[in-house]
Amino acid sequence: MDELVDLHLHTIASDGRLSPTELVNLIASKGVKVAAISDHDTTDGVDEAKRAAAALPDLEIIPAIELSTDIPGDEIHMLGYFLQYEDEEFQGVLRNFRKGRLERGRMIVEKLESLGKPVDWERVQEIAGDGAVGRPHIALAMVERGYFKEPKEAFYEYLGRNGLAYAEREKMTPMEGVELLAKVGGAAVLAHPANLEDLDTKVAELKEVGLVGMEVHYAQYRPETIEYLVGVAKRHDLIPCGGSDYHGLGNTGEQEPGILGPPMESVERLAEVSKKLAKSL
Ligand code: AMP
Ligand code: ZN
Ligand code: FE
Ligand code: FE
Repeated sequence: MDELVDLHLHTIASDGRLSPTELVNLIASKGVKVAAISDHDTTDGVDEAKRAAAALPDLEIIPAIELSTDIPGDEIHMLGYFLQYEDEEFQGVLRNFRKGRLERGRMIVEKLESLGKPVDWERVQEIAGDGAVGRPHIALAMVERGYFKEPKEAFYEYLGRNGLAYAEREKMTPMEGVELLAKVGGAAVLAHPANLEDLDTKVAELKEVGLVGMEVHYAQYRPETIEYLVGVAKRHDLIPCGGSDYHGLGNTGEQEPGILGPPMESVERLAEVSKKLAKSL
């Protein structure tokens, strides 16, 4: 059997609901051998996950991140692997993004109030704890208020990109994301790309600035979508990556961590890229 790899996981450091230690114990119990902690705009969960995994000889934790970046009319999530996340300047950039998340969160909550679906901003912050505030935290507060049964329902009418309460925040471009990652030796990988318009053109452009991989084995995709993405990755010589994108939010149909991921060879290729990037720093 192939060894289980999951390169896309969230913790309470952003909008996941398990602590890094809880997540590490859960994936270890499922037999996962390599896992990347890839929270939104933060690496704060990585050290705890590594400490928890240190007691487990069969599980390797890869430091990672999922950056939110902007393109006209849509957004692109850029994953980074094996990055030197302790870098002070890098952490400063991330702190700024998280400040933008706070302001945007407050704006969304204000819009919800005017739409007759009030939630307490204080409660949203409590739910987020020390984590990077995201729309799922607001969705959880809406569920608590009884507006919906589960968080994903809050996205249909209110929190999704075309939702009534949606608000924007300052984000970098995908190119800037790739470049930011390169500066800390991070191998840049395009996240869940299936719905992006004109994927071939986008991928070609991003590859020019240093993109090395693309999510293919993504748990929420159907086999035919994965097959299509395998083809795109091959055409552009990109490392096929992927994982569960587990959050533990309690949505029906949410995939369990470790359920799908790329072959171990992809992990080795990402490590190679990162090593080369680090040498040129
Ligand atoms: P944010 O980082 O605040 O932009 O929120 C992005 C997160 O919200 C994603 O990582 C998902 O966890 C969640 N999300 C985004 N769109 C949806 C959706 N349509 N349904 C359910 N969850 C979503
Ligand atoms: Zn998320
Ligand atoms: Fe994402
Ligand atoms: Fe994610």
